[in-house]
Amino acid sequence: MKQGIHPKYYECKVVCNCGNEFVTGSTKPEIHVETCSKCHPFYTGQQRVSSARGRIERFNKKYNVGTEN
Ligand SMILES: [Zn+2]
Repeated sequence: MKQGIHPKYYECKVVCNCGNEFVTGSTKPEIHVETCSKCHPFYTGQQRVSSARGRIERFNKKYNVGTEN
């Protein structure tokens, strides 16, 4: 039997640029990422969109443009 075919599976510590850390499974013992679920633009952007919604709707009414999606 050959050994080393299957990579070792670690409990991987993921460290984000924002300072958030979480543990996941990976073939690497530690990973550094630039964005995570806490600071990713998708999530932070979503919050900004909902809080700015009223302003956008007023803008659309003023200029008589319909809202896509
Ligand atoms: Zn982050």
